[in-house]
Amino acid sequence: MTPLGPAATLGILGGGQLGRMLALEAGRLGFDVHVYCPEADSPAARVAARETVGGWDEEARLAAFAEACEVVTYEFENVPVAAAQAIERAGTPLRPGVASLENSQDRLVEKGFLNRIGIETVAYRAVETRDDLGGALAELGGAAILKRRREGYDGKGQARLSGPADADAAWAVAGGAPCILEALCPFEREVSVIAARGADGAVAVWDPSENDHEGGVLRTARAPARIGDGTAQAARAACLRLIQQLDHVGVLALEFFVTPDGGVLANEFAPRVHNSGHWTPEACLTGQFEQHIRAIAGWPLRSTERVFDAEMTNYLGDAACALPGAAPSGASITLYGKRESAPGRKMAHTVSVKPR
Ligand code: ADP
Ligand code: MG
Repeated sequence: MTPLGPAATLGILGGGQLGRMLALEAGRLGFDVHVYCPEADSPAARVAARETVGGWDEEARLAAFAEACEVVTYEFENVPVAAAQAIERAGTPLRPGVASLENSQDRLVEKGFLNRIGIETVAYRAVETRDDLGGALAELGGAAILKRRREGYDGKGQARLSGPADADAAWAVAGGAPCILEALCPFEREVSVIAARGADGAVAVWDPSENDHEGGVLRTARAPARIGDGTAQAARAACLRLIQQLDHVGVLALEFFVTPDGGVLANEFAPRVHNSGHWTPEACLTGQFEQHIRAIAGWPLRSTERVFDAEMTNYLGDAACALPGAAPSGASITLYGKRESAPGRKMAHTVSVKPR
């Protein structure tokens, strides 16, 4: 495709902080951004040239939005597939495409897809009923984690079980929704790999980051990860296989558990820029937001080479309020512009870098 030229309009489905950071980069590259979001006054819309407030089921509004854009992307993996299809039906390219949504929205479908393309995960079972849960727990043996198949994030809709005695409580957390039961992975650490694929099929991958979670929410991401070369290579290779198999255009993130023997088991992927990649703009020749915009606009990708060692820290709830006056020394600050703070809500992040 010919690269989109100056002042073309890029559409973003979703209005959160990821959309905001994408919109800011798109602006730097000369594009106008049009945000489609169910809520007015979203963090992304407030830095965009245009905003459409509309529901995911409003086909006519989605079509009018698509017609006003040269290309449309999404910053949110739970955009309903039907809404994504409405964009394509209006004749505007959707990058990444529908397959990347379909294979990441449902944890059971996602793990099946990963396994089919040769990417290993923990053992898992589908759970539809309380009876299924008992059977699945016996089959997996030992500790497990029950997750709703759809719409979980930041550890929400998940419950850990050390045995059958925990099954009733876990089932209550799931609230009767279709679930997946996963064997609990005794991981040594968690890492993720972010990759990008251009409209021409070229790929680029960043160094893995090492991610620490608290209560299911990412707290810090550090590069380099403390893993051996073989582990890093395996994680990179899996992420590149995934992005190619999906025919994905744009950025994608794959999360892994690193086992005590240095092996990697994929946990989940996000078909978008990712919180664990927020260190890349400060530490690499090209950051994830710029690269995503380049990919969807049909521009060549740039080098992902890491110039600095980096540590990214998330700020949740009111912890972000003090940041402007009291950030860690030398750290860069990104505030998400959310009007309301809530406990556990991601409000900001900082990135500290030092020479490698
Ligand atoms: P979310 O969509 O909420 O990020 P994840 O599946 O990534 O859901 O789970 C959140 C965190 O919970 C993971 O980063 C990891 O720390 C822990 N976790 C999830 N699944 C497992 C598992 N099978 N074994 C061990 N820890 C897990
Ligand atoms: Mg996760």
